[in-house]
Amino acid sequence: MTQHQHFPASLVPPADAAEEIRLPAALRVMHEVDGIDLGAAEEAAGQFLRALGVRIDTESMRGTPGRMARAYAELFSPRPFDLTTFPNDEGYDELVLARAIPVRSVCEHHLLPFVGTAHVGYLPGTRILGLSKLARVVEYFACRPQVQERLTKQVADWLQAQLDPKGVGVVIEAEHTCMTLRGVQATGSTTMTSTLLGVLRHDARSRAEFLALTGVAS
Ligand SMILES: [Zn+2]
Repeated sequence: MTQHQHFPASLVPPADAAEEIRLPAALRVMHEVDGIDLGAAEEAAGQFLRALGVRIDTESMRGTPGRMARAYAELFSPRPFDLTTFPNDEGYDELVLARAIPVRSVCEHHLLPFVGTAHVGYLPGTRILGLSKLARVVEYFACRPQVQERLTKQVADWLQAQLDPKGVGVVIEAEHTCMTLRGVQATGSTTMTSTLLGVLRHDARSRAEFLALTGVAS
């Protein structure tokens, strides 16, 4: 069975509602974009640069407002993907973990990039997920103005709601250019966030195993 469904992040149910959710075999995951007007964005970028005293009448900068608009549009547009889940027929009950998934996002306070890696794992319940999809879920939530704490929690809550697993763990480590290029200029410093749900939250041994496998607590 294939079901195509628009699934905006704002409708993701809370984790404790997970058992009520009927899981389709495949779910088309699309970003809820309010509509990108590239022309308006380009015009505004030109005004923005001029207001900062940046001359854009040179040959090499003439196209910069348009490039800025297209670059941010791309950063705010995750690729849609099919979330294919499979029944856990073999009863696999060990941790499934994808390590070092690249994260690129934009901090919503300064609109400057933050980049890093995510480790995403879950303890399967009735359904399992194609491994590559874990990276797509991270991308889906990263491609928008974000804060790292929310990104971490959104990925975890979404997996909890979609897979009804026994536990979920998400750890993200990222460097925020709004911290390293400006302000305190804490070059090289990274920010670590984690969300643990279910067994990975409540059972000390499972939690320790997850954190050891991520390399966070080895
Ligand atoms: Zn920032």
